[in-house]
Amino acid sequence: MITNKLKLFVKELIGKSIAINNNVKTFTKNKLYIFSFHEITDNPSFFQKRNHLFVTKKVFKKQLDYINRLFKIIQPSDLLLNTNIKNSALITFDDGYVNSFKYGLKIMTKSKITPIFFLNMSAVKNKTPLLPASLEYLEAHYNKYDHFIDEFNLNKPISLSIKPPQFQKFEKYIKLNKKKINSYQGKIISLDYLFKKQSHCNFYIADHLYEHYNCLSLTQKELIHLCKKNLKILKKFKNHINIFSFPNGVPGKCFNKKNVNWIKNLNYKKVLSNGNTANPDNIKFLLDRISLNNNDDTFNKFLFKIYQSTKRIN
Ligand SMILES: [Zn+2]
Repeated sequence: MITNKLKLFVKELIGKSIAINNNVKTFTKNKLYIFSFHEITDNPSFFQKRNHLFVTKKVFKKQLDYINRLFKIIQPSDLLLNTNIKNSALITFDDGYVNSFKYGLKIMTKSKITPIFFLNMSAVKNKTPLLPASLEYLEAHYNKYDHFIDEFNLNKPISLSIKPPQFQKFEKYIKLNKKKINSYQGKIISLDYLFKKQSHCNFYIADHLYEHYNCLSLTQKELIHLCKKNLKILKKFKNHINIFSFPNGVPGKCFNKKNVNWIKNLNYKKVLSNGNTANPDNIKFLLDRISLNNNDDTFNKFLFKIYQSTKRIN
């Protein structure tokens, strides 16, 4: 806890010195910054707290203000243009948590910001809990969990290495405990809400795989199957945009070049990762994102993240 506070204090100090010693616009002017969020809530679930997946309403408003101060916020469809976009930002959300729509979208619509929500339709349509939340819950509550994990001989973290035939062994337990796991995880948006709001033009929805598997642990056949299953539902919506975001998203850990090519062959227009770097342009097929969490709650800490992401560009 103390080290965490110390880290944040150091980030604040470095951010302050960046603000004093640099003309921020000079290091941001030629780049595209895509931000990723999960849930916007003042009452995060256990899972969201444990994995830093939430931002409070107050902090979210501040972060949008910081982004607005430094960048021009573009429309998701601008990402697909062949003209190069500079000094710009785009807002995205993964997993489709309910309050990122209820609160987040309300705040963004007021500021005329159009985000993309990347969704796992298995969670949206069938209320099946997401794979990472299910595994965390199983680890704490299912007495046969360790036995299965030993038998599978998987590397940790399990949520990154588990394969579909292995995860399916837990299917029965997950079904029986669906309500409890969903409350541990946090509520996901309903299909009904998405259908009702699809014509408002204030958000887009896109593919985050039918189920939240780590792409690096999938075969090409499994990945194609999970993409097609998700797209079949997503394509029914007027506000669907043909972009894919890798679950978990860390380059090297969660996907590799081969996975990017599999996605490219499925005719997606862009694929997004989560490696915390700024993009030199919007032309490349693979674009990276910077995740913001509730600790990025001052302009100096935000600036520290931006500065780091810009340095990582090479
Ligand atoms: Zn995700």
